[in-house]
Amino acid sequence: MPLDAATLDRLRAKLDAREAELREEVRTVRDDLGGDVESREPRNQVEDSGERGEELIRESVRHAEMEADLDEAVEIAAARERMQDGSYGECELCGCEIPLARLEVQPAARRCAPCQEKWERTHAVGVHIPRVP
Ligand SMILES: [Zn+2]
Repeated sequence: MPLDAATLDRLRAKLDAREAELREEVRTVRDDLGGDVESREPRNQVEDSGERGEELIRESVRHAEMEADLDEAVEIAAARERMQDGSYGECELCGCEIPLARLEVQPAARRCAPCQEKWERTHAVGVHIPRVP
């Protein structure tokens, strides 16, 4: 059963809300990192190289977070496009209809849960713990 207009509207609203959240997060991280390179003032010199090292680690973690947020924002935009062209809610691998319950939780999902699992097994996504058969 294809998704009806009211359901699509509701899911679209979820995408919008999540996107706004991501924007806010990315902005916070950017501010945190001191904006772009040009606007970055030479900060108070951190004398202790250990402290500097920690700061670098913190920054790279924040960068990684920001990248994850940006990736998610791309997925959201892609989901909106699929809503436009009518392919939204179809698993891109097996072509089945992604259960609504899954879309409610993950409105930007491109794959049904079993395909997502398969996909993650063949594409390194974050830290992967191998399953023991
Ligand atoms: Zn599938």
